[in-house]
Amino acid sequence: MEINYPLDRLNTWKIGGPAEAVYWPQSIVDLSIVWQRAQAAKTPIWLIGRGSNLLLPDEGLPGITLVTTSLCAIEWSEYSVQVEAGYTLARLSQEVGERGWSGLEFARGIPGSVGGAVMMNAGAHGGEMAPRIISITALWADGTVKKLERADLEFGYRFCSLRGNAWVVAAQLEFSPGDREQILSRMKENLNTRAVNQPLEKPNAGSIFRNPPGDSAGRLIETAGWKGKRMGGAQVSDKHANFIVNNGDAKAKDVLALIEAITRDIQSKFGIKLQTEVAYFKEA
Ligand SMILES: Cc1cc2nc3c(=O)[nH]c(=O)nc-3n(C[C@H](O)[C@H](O)[C@H](O)COP(=O)(O)OP(=O)(O)OC[C@H]3O[C@@H](n4cnc5c(N)ncnc54)[C@H](O)[C@@H]3O)c2cc1C
Repeated sequence: MEINYPLDRLNTWKIGGPAEAVYWPQSIVDLSIVWQRAQAAKTPIWLIGRGSNLLLPDEGLPGITLVTTSLCAIEWSEYSVQVEAGYTLARLSQEVGERGWSGLEFARGIPGSVGGAVMMNAGAHGGEMAPRIISITALWADGTVKKLERADLEFGYRFCSLRGNAWVVAAQLEFSPGDREQILSRMKENLNTRAVNQPLEKPNAGSIFRNPPGDSAGRLIETAGWKGKRMGGAQVSDKHANFIVNNGDAKAKDVLALIEAITRDIQSKFGIKLQTEVAYFKEA
């Protein structure tokens, strides 16, 4: 357990004040015990994976912040895997590809955890997590850990029906036989496309806004003239208008101010209300 721990070390944007306490559970049982104790003591509790889709407050977080990155147990079977929530999705994608199994090519460049990716139904390059899921093991608000089959869950665009109800602690994923060289070269292509189109050289949190139906948030924001615009240390990327980068000293308030201004502007110019994809933790 770390006390007064800087949240900017726990997310890819490198933003956020001090967390009152941060804990890295070492097992699912450990996580559920901490969860139950915090619930009983009415301590605020927050869950972070790899912090790659998350804005954390400048004021920091009260209570206990749990980070899943030590939950990394993995068990391989024929064309499937049982993997804990903290495992890195990009690493899993590479390992699945090395085996010549197809299904996670889309995920090679997504820097989140498996748990975060399941919860967001992360996707790219025409693929997403949902079709890979056999079952999910989740920690529920009453402290129980339960396994749900694919048929018990609903998925949509960056949506999983567990969101807000439970935490993903592990997932069982399935793949299909493929050609190893083709799979690895598709991954390489996907990585190259990202390097060209995304501002990976500066701290960021991936896409800020969800794409509205039939359109792209990046296209709307670029058309409205936001590329390169700054507020404090935060800047709309010159490379990709749906990314906000940290120029080194960005605060959460700078990012929020940009998000609010862009949302208002797109609403007034195009009549479209953009919704954020990035999560924001703030005290209720
Ligand atoms: C450069 C870059 C490129 C990206 N490209 C893509 C992309 O192509 N496609 C895409 O979908 N995303 C993309 N992302 C966003 C991000 O990587 C994914 O959304 C990822 O799935 C988030 O996982 P995480 O562990 O980082 O979640 P975090 O950022 O840690 O958390 C995000 C939210 O999920 C919740 N959460 C985290 N873990 C769990 C869990 N185990 N159970 C329940 N809730 C949980 C958190 O409480 C929070 O609300 C990109 C991000 C970056 C920085």
